[in-house]
Amino acid sequence: MPAPVVRATLLIVDDQPQNLAVLGELLQARYDVLVAPNGRRALEVAARQPVPDLILLDIMMPEMDGYAVLAALQQNPATQATPVIFLTALGDPGDEEHGLSLGAVDYIVKPIQPAVVLARVRNQLDLKRARDILSDHNAWLEAEVSRRVAENRRLEDASREAQARLSHQLELILSTAGEGIYGTDADGVVNFVNPAATEMLGFSRDELIGFSAHATFHHSRIDGSHYPQHDCPLVNSLAAGIALRSQEETFWRKDGTQLPVEYSSVPIIEAERRLGAVVSLRDISERKRYLAQLERQSNFDDLTGLPNRNLLNDRLAHAIDQPRHSPEAVLAVLAIEPDRFQTVNETLGRATGDRVITELATRLAAHTQPADTLARLEGDEFVLVIEVARSELASSLAQSVVGAMARPMLLAGRELTLGVSIGIALFPKDGSNGDELLRHAVSAMHKARAEGGGRSHLYAVDMDSRALERLEMEGELRRAIAQGDLLLHYQPQVNLRTGRIVGAEALVRWPHPARGLVPPSAFIPLAEDTGLIAPLGEWVLRQACAQNKAWQAAGLPRISVAVNLSARQFESQDVLALVDSVLKETGLDPACLELELTESAVMKDAEAFIRTTQRLKALSVSLSIDDFGTGFSSLSYLRRFAIDRLKIDQSFVHDINRDPENAAIALSVIALAHNLRMAVIAEGVETEAQLGFLRAHGCDEMQGYLFSRPLPASDFAQLLGGGRHVSLTADPTAPSRTLLLVDDETSILSSLKRLFRREGYAVLTAGNGAEALDLLATHPVKVIISDARMSGMDGSELLGKVRALYPDTVRLMLSGYTDLQAVTRAVNSGELYQFITKPWDDAKLVEAVRAAFLHYEARHKTRHGLTTPASSAAPAREESPP
Ligand code: C2E
Ligand code: CA
Ligand code: CA
Repeated sequence: MPAPVVRATLLIVDDQPQNLAVLGELLQARYDVLVAPNGRRALEVAARQPVPDLILLDIMMPEMDGYAVLAALQQNPATQATPVIFLTALGDPGDEEHGLSLGAVDYIVKPIQPAVVLARVRNQLDLKRARDILSDHNAWLEAEVSRRVAENRRLEDASREAQARLSHQLELILSTAGEGIYGTDADGVVNFVNPAATEMLGFSRDELIGFSAHATFHHSRIDGSHYPQHDCPLVNSLAAGIALRSQEETFWRKDGTQLPVEYSSVPIIEAERRLGAVVSLRDISERKRYLAQLERQSNFDDLTGLPNRNLLNDRLAHAIDQPRHSPEAVLAVLAIEPDRFQTVNETLGRATGDRVITELATRLAAHTQPADTLARLEGDEFVLVIEVARSELASSLAQSVVGAMARPMLLAGRELTLGVSIGIALFPKDGSNGDELLRHAVSAMHKARAEGGGRSHLYAVDMDSRALERLEMEGELRRAIAQGDLLLHYQPQVNLRTGRIVGAEALVRWPHPARGLVPPSAFIPLAEDTGLIAPLGEWVLRQACAQNKAWQAAGLPRISVAVNLSARQFESQDVLALVDSVLKETGLDPACLELELTESAVMKDAEAFIRTTQRLKALSVSLSIDDFGTGFSSLSYLRRFAIDRLKIDQSFVHDINRDPENAAIALSVIALAHNLRMAVIAEGVETEAQLGFLRAHGCDEMQGYLFSRPLPASDFAQLLGGGRHVSLTADPTAPSRTLLLVDDETSILSSLKRLFRREGYAVLTAGNGAEALDLLATHPVKVIISDARMSGMDGSELLGKVRALYPDTVRLMLSGYTDLQAVTRAVNSGELYQFITKPWDDAKLVEAVRAAFLHYEARHKTRHGLTTPASSAAPAREESPP
């Protein structure tokens, strides 16, 4: 660094004042000049600041010579470096040499020559300046170097500290991070892994570090299976050095389980060189589970696990688009609903309801293939979408489902039977899209329900209008009930021993302004479905009791009135409380009220039914079971019901003297009732023959058109007041020798009739089989002779029925030789007692008939069976005096 341009300072030391003056004068013009007259003074001045740049020093001085001064200057660090020029007398070369060796820089010989002095001084000053400059620069350089070294050291220390702090922090972050983080080098080899990552992947740190990330994370090291590299976005991104954000992937854990993760990878690139990558993993199994659950919830029903409406819609749309498997195949949509589910829920509780639904779902599932869709919609509605090979098969499939659903189910030790109704819509016939198909299947299902349930129905175009009609009717019925617009008709019930009216069944009618007198079959099912049955039933009960009370008050004979109760009423209202309050309200003697219950009410829950009937009995009302024989009452329960009467359903009565099967059922009901000390009433009795048959077999009471149709209250009162009864012919069970002749040729009939009259028999004749059966029902026939060949029912068919209906009768047949084979078969199978060939021999015929009666009488003494007359135990009602 160049020194500032300043005047140099000289010190002149000499003991001779004239020397000082001469030199001072000579040098003053160019330099600042200091003087010292002796060595001591020179050392003082030289040490003062600023230090002189050059000293001119006389050697020869008293006290302290130049050599001593020089030595002293060199002792003092402040003056050590100050150059000294000796002044010496001429001709003393030893001085010169000595001085230089001591460290003087030059010498000047006296006497002084000004040019020499100036030159030597300037030289020395220039030298000194150069030396000064050099030494200053070095010092600066050194200082600068050490400053920089210190600075660097300080910076290094600081950054080392920061680095340490940082890496400690980083380590903490990485080791506590919930995310798995690992690093790879440029070749995808793992060089760092945090605990979360080892935890997630199930490998230890050592098993991960140093291995290929790809191999590790796809488990190929463990099970040898190689994940296709090109398919792995992670591997690709590591190789290409590109970043990946939020990829989802399933990693294989060491234990072979799979872990869904979301990962991101960031390449590490420095100076355009790829150094590796950092990959972060997030365990998303929880999120996946949650999503799956959401998915399930939005597509599946919780209770049954079946698809819900959402998924059904999707599947249905898909199924519609799908090609069918054969040209005739169609897609069928079945809407399936249990008939009485609401009441199960209401009476047995939600939990039982849920179990019913689950059971139904299981049974339905048994009817489906994986390709079908079985869905549960809201509540108790199921839908089955299924392809059937031909459209006709849809109905038979539905029927088999109906059958499977009707099997009783055991819930909490209790048997429950629920029918289902099914509506079927076919694609493309019944709808072009899922919505339409579903809607139509549901309206067909409602139709099946309206027809009594437990059946299936195909959709038909007019159903929608019918559904509307139903809706309209429901409104009208509701109004009619509320306004008391309904009517009751009363049908007499007659005691078969006395022939007198002992009761009246109240039957509801709906006088409709447009439809006329609507029969109950047209609106009771609707009322049951809509809950209107409760107010309707209540009205009927109150009206019937009040009416009976009014008849009694009018002095008419005391009878009981029978009121029908729907099973639904038991489910939706407290029948017991209702009956009790209506009896109190109307003042009717409970003994004059009979409640007709149906077997379906029993079936629901037998134990509950037993309790209810016992409580009703405790009110002293009578109870009967209506339509008996059409349900499936368990006989073991029947014994425990507090029931007074069984009503033989009219379907059995209808054919009672013609159809052996129906007759057998009717007769078992009679026997059963009597064994259980109940009375029996037959309903729907329309003919004398039916009546005769029933009387002959001990039926206690009857009701039917034969005696009277249901009548308006006033007509009924007249009938009751008039004392009309059934004219009962002679006791059908009284012994007499009655012979029945059956032939379609009147001439044969009349000649035979004459023949046997003479023999003293009571003779009946019939021109055909049907007539014969009617006569048999009303007369105590013991022996029957039938022609073999008759138009319509032939002889063997007739006698076959007679054998079944009246096993005690002795049966003979007249036949030509041509029929011999058939007749022989008949004899062998026990239908015939004997056959007689045409033309016959009178005497032989008379003899055969006499033997037949004897046979009958001999056998009858020892035989007991269904034909046993009613025991006196049967508590049949009798007319009581007014
Ligand atoms: P149900 O209880 O079996 O009643 C007997 C039905 O048979 C009545 O039909 C009656 O008119 C009819 N009937 C009586 N005698 C004969 C006959 O000799 N021949 C034929 N073919 N039929 C005969 P109705 O009045 O049409 O009632 C039909 C059904 O409606 C009843 O069958 C009953 O189940 C129901 N019902 C009627 N009124 C009520 C009521 O007030 N409440 C309830 N819950 N149901 C009722
Ligand atoms: Ca009835
Ligand atoms: Ca009935």
